Amino acid sequence: MEVRSNKQYHPQMHSAEHILNQTMVRMFNCGRSFTNHIEKKKSKCDYHFSRNLTQTEIEEIELKVNQVISQDLVVSEEFYSIEDAEKKFNLSKLPDDSGEKIRVIKIGDYDACPCSGLHVSNTSEIGTFKIISTDFNEGVLRVRFKLPNN
Ligand SMILES: [Zn+2]
Repeated sequence: MEVRSNKQYHPQMHSAEHILNQTMVRMFNCGRSFTNHIEKKKSKCDYHFSRNLTQTEIEEIELKVNQVISQDLVVSEEFYSIEDAEKKFNLSKLPDDSGEKIRVIKIGDYDACPCSGLHVSNTSEIGTFKIISTDFNEGVLRVRFKLPNN
């Protein structure tokens, strides 16, 4: 769920969440986080999953997210009609008051996701991504992360 009041004050964290989600989708085909909690100091994302991550996988995720960040990708917004957006994206998490046009946040060519929050304009503003811990409980993988430079 994209909660504007919670997220818009932490554009770095929130942008990192987009990259983490796309990285999880690419590595594990698990879908984006179904719930998350974004705060300035540390954040967490929950995924539908079957097990905990290994240390090697955690390091791989960190490496990939930091590789994306270090490419200085432009973060941009595009607007789609609801009909077009429904064909390309999962809109089930959008708030009901999204209006006629769907706002999609693009991070270079790496990620595109409907979102109403506030983001950085370039991934170079995010700094370093670090996973604090993960745990697995009843089909839910929780990933806690921070941006030590922010
Ligand atoms: Zn967003």
